[in-house]
Amino acid sequence: MTSAPETTRPLDVAALDVESLRVDFPILAETVGGTPLIYLDSAATSQKPSQVLQAEYDFLTHANAAVHRGAHTLAAEATDLFEDARATVAGFVGAAPEQLVWTSGATMGLNLVAYAIGNASVGRGAPASARVALQPGDEIVATAIEHHANLIPWQELAARTGATLRHIPARADGTLDLDAAAQLIGARTRVVAFTHVSNVLGIVNPVSELVALAQEVGALTVMDACQSAPHLPLDLPALGVDLAVFSGHKMLGPYGVGGLYGRAEILDALPPFLTGGSMITTVTLDGAEYLPPPQRFEAGTQPVGPAIGLAAAVRYLDEVGLDRIHAHERMLAERMRDGLVDIPGIRLLGDAAGVERVGLWSFDVDGVHAHDAGQFLDARGIAVRVGHHCAAPLHRQYGITASVRASAALYNTVDEIDAFVDAVRGIRAYFGAES
Ligand code: PMP
Repeated sequence: MTSAPETTRPLDVAALDVESLRVDFPILAETVGGTPLIYLDSAATSQKPSQVLQAEYDFLTHANAAVHRGAHTLAAEATDLFEDARATVAGFVGAAPEQLVWTSGATMGLNLVAYAIGNASVGRGAPASARVALQPGDEIVATAIEHHANLIPWQELAARTGATLRHIPARADGTLDLDAAAQLIGARTRVVAFTHVSNVLGIVNPVSELVALAQEVGALTVMDACQSAPHLPLDLPALGVDLAVFSGHKMLGPYGVGGLYGRAEILDALPPFLTGGSMITTVTLDGAEYLPPPQRFEAGTQPVGPAIGLAAAVRYLDEVGLDRIHAHERMLAERMRDGLVDIPGIRLLGDAAGVERVGLWSFDVDGVHAHDAGQFLDARGIAVRVGHHCAAPLHRQYGITASVRASAALYNTVDEIDAFVDAVRGIRAYFGAES
């Protein structure tokens, strides 16, 4: 099986007017020690446009009330805004409102899924829950390049259920080994978990091949869309995944909110993870009946203001246009690569040719610790990530404990990328690592 590039959309879309959209992001005018900020850490968290801040502010100053319960006018208005936000964010990923569960972020979404499967595995939930239950000897397959958020919940689930966790390996160039995947995914596989885009490598993974392999054996697919949702047009039902998570703060939205998308029949089958108020129909002292999805998974007070802010964020992304954003960021990624690849002692992680990418690169600087490189760049106003980016096993595969990651977003300019590459050129000499 060959790994075809996942996205082949034409990229001859009209160029972004980056300078005018930067005005919407006041923080981009900040300086760091007197030097203009060059923010290349959007894969960790994105900056937020004024429209998002304003939407939350407007809600809190004009319509704030507890949703879904109150008999008063303000509560009805807050509920309408909250449910409108759900419809907007669901629509952004091609889904219906009832297919979108609010979470606090991607980590919460993935834990929700793993714990719900665990609850089904001990017989909780409706009879349909048996469809997602695990038994000793069943297998969960994840890739070896996952963020810890899409790895540790599966380790825990395997430990709780007696299932075995197996891993699809990555090749040295950062692409997934689909031949190995085809061998690994078999009759015992019940869950296949993978990231759409690696937060270390920036490569768009071959979702349709992975989904096809999982579907052949009737396994659930769980996709981490954190690093794709702000960067590529995303139609989750069309991708065919059963469940997917994304994170508000990485897609121009507020902290503390994210989404879990699920196919209706899968959400229906999942028992709840968190229980309490707002997710029930009837409660007695001895038991409770649960609401259908999405409310079944939304126990307790929800992040209403952040959800409304996230709706403003996805409207912003939609207005700029995901095709244009993707084209712009891909151009920045190519420019970054062209600059970095010629610098002696810089090793790019996942430098596969002919794959679809978002605008990020991680690299190792020979003879210089990633943290030192990060400080050197910070002294020049350039914000990058250093460390293992919550993907320690992947770094171990490359024989390192840490790397430098530069990640671009729609608001980054060509000049910023050039300044970044120029700065990287000086790192090894500064630390005396050239000899
Ligand atoms: N998955 C990936 C690929 C990520 O990059 C991140 C954030 N670093 C997460 C999961 C965790 O997301 P959150 O911050 O929403 O919990």
